[in-house]
Amino acid sequence: MLTVMEQMGKYKRIVVKIGTSTLTYATGKLNIRRIETLVRVLSDMHNAGLEVVLVSSGAVSAGTSRLGLEITDRTTEEKQALAAVGQCEIMRLYERLFGAYGITVGQILVTKDVVDDENRFALAKSTFARLIGFGCIPIVNENDSVSYEGIKFGGNDTLSAYVAIICDADLLINLSDIDGLYDSDPRKNKNARLISTVEEISEEILAYAGGVGSTRGTGGMITKLKAAQIATGAGIPMQILNGRDPRVLYGIIDGQRTGTYFAAKKEEN
Ligand code: GLU
Repeated sequence: MLTVMEQMGKYKRIVVKIGTSTLTYATGKLNIRRIETLVRVLSDMHNAGLEVVLVSSGAVSAGTSRLGLEITDRTTEEKQALAAVGQCEIMRLYERLFGAYGITVGQILVTKDVVDDENRFALAKSTFARLIGFGCIPIVNENDSVSYEGIKFGGNDTLSAYVAIICDADLLINLSDIDGLYDSDPRKNKNARLISTVEEISEEILAYAGGVGSTRGTGGMITKLKAAQIATGAGIPMQILNGRDPRVLYGIIDGQRTGTYFAAKKEEN
């Protein structure tokens, strides 16, 4: 097992993605206890010398509950407006909680054209680099309020993979409401087996992924595998962990393997 210092040498810059179903209760309201734990752990990792970037969902859900609306199916236009409200709510909480540990955050809202356009990609890259250089924790979400189909990532799983590329991350962690990738749906099959390491995202692996998980998030295992394909294809490994208890992140710097690890593709010469 690697020592903490060796492990930290291995992973200097980490992108952590947390989804709506992990950040909110079934009521749609923010899960403050979980968010507080997440912020404490990330602050501690930051203090230990890791460079942390957080990709956080939850804007639409937080906006919906802030306005006292029901969590029923909303139109895309409504979700765009709700995201504008919820994004403030979420950032206010992160700002305050990270601030309590003396850490400054910076918000970056991204649309897909940033990764499609070379100049915008370079601008985003330098902004991330500078924010990290200033000792801040960048907090990222999709700019849902102004995104339309043509410039949408289609979910924060995909977004997080591109953020990992923009930031030259050493590891992408996807904190989910499931332990990792199973060979069948564990919600339906109690004998489902957790796959701890995926060396290659083959057809067989893709076939293991089911549909969307909860009603509040937009992703499912399929979008996580898509994110893993993007990240590992760019040489960045990805780890799926259950975000129920964000202290699971300590396992990464303690050299423990939980969840599912997707190995980075080796460069072909
Ligand atoms: N950007 C959306 C939000 O903040 C979440 C997208 C997703 O769940 O992947 O509500």
